[in-house]
Amino acid sequence: MSVNEDRINSIIDERRVKLHLFKPSKREIWTIIGKEKEHWIDPNSNFCSCSGYYFGMIKNKNPCYHVKSISKAKKENKFEIIEFADDEYESFISGIVSNL
Ligand SMILES: [Zn+2]
Repeated sequence: MSVNEDRINSIIDERRVKLHLFKPSKREIWTIIGKEKEHWIDPNSNFCSCSGYYFGMIKNKNPCYHVKSISKAKKENKFEIIEFADDEYESFISGIVSNL
């Protein structure tokens, strides 16, 4: 098994994939709890906020293992859903952005 697969499996097994679901709009924000901070992943555009993301895209034309973890977690239905109200959306986003 490759190092990336190990990382992906431990993220999923440790339930570090979180779906923040805003209601009633059903907007989704996906994050993964990392060792030092929380990473924000956009599965639709294959974007991740971690520092390895751009490096991986430039070097290997491959997104980081967080992006892959999200798609695997979705497939296996192994993620935590945290529900929010829509009026919390903006403060949530600015919280993420200030954390990057
Ligand atoms: Zn990442």
